Amino acid sequence: MRKELKEQILTEFPKLFGEHFPSFDCGDGWFQLIYNLCGTLAILTLPEDYKILAIKQKYGGLCLWGDPYNEEITELLYECEQASLGVCERCGTTQGVKYFIHRGWEQVACHPCRKMIKAGWQEGCAEFSPVEKEITRDILKLIQVRLDSLIQDRFPGGTAKLVLASKKELSHIMVKDAEGRVFAC
Ligand SMILES: [Zn+2]
Repeated sequence: MRKELKEQILTEFPKLFGEHFPSFDCGDGWFQLIYNLCGTLAILTLPEDYKILAIKQKYGGLCLWGDPYNEEITELLYECEQASLGVCERCGTTQGVKYFIHRGWEQVACHPCRKMIKAGWQEGCAEFSPVEKEITRDILKLIQVRLDSLIQDRFPGGTAKLVLASKKELSHIMVKDAEGRVFAC
């Protein structure tokens, strides 16, 4: 999820999250679901020290963890997780949403987003059309800026480098995490 959306949730509902909120990793499309859930929790009388510990995408759906265990809250978290299976993780629509697997990664997305994902565009890159094969220097710069922020979000301390096949064609992206492990995508 984009940094500004995460920050909106963390800023508006500070009591629900610890000082070092450890994990917040899912697509922008689920922002409203999570925001609404936090709004519901914020008006309940929560157990003392209750915190949401993790928000993630797992097996295609939203996964939420909170502590200490509380039956009523766990039911609310579960309802939110179930609802996520009918909401596109990328754009938030409920139209034409389907579970699918792409390169071993389970996801739920609407038809246009599935097409984008299968064409190779990952979260955050939707503004770049997959049919645009030739890339200008300006677009490359934009992609690099966007990549840098995504990488810092997901692999703090890591780097991402665009590798070109020719002057105007992207070959692949080299991602290095903070421990120096290298991935190509
Ligand atoms: Zn979508």
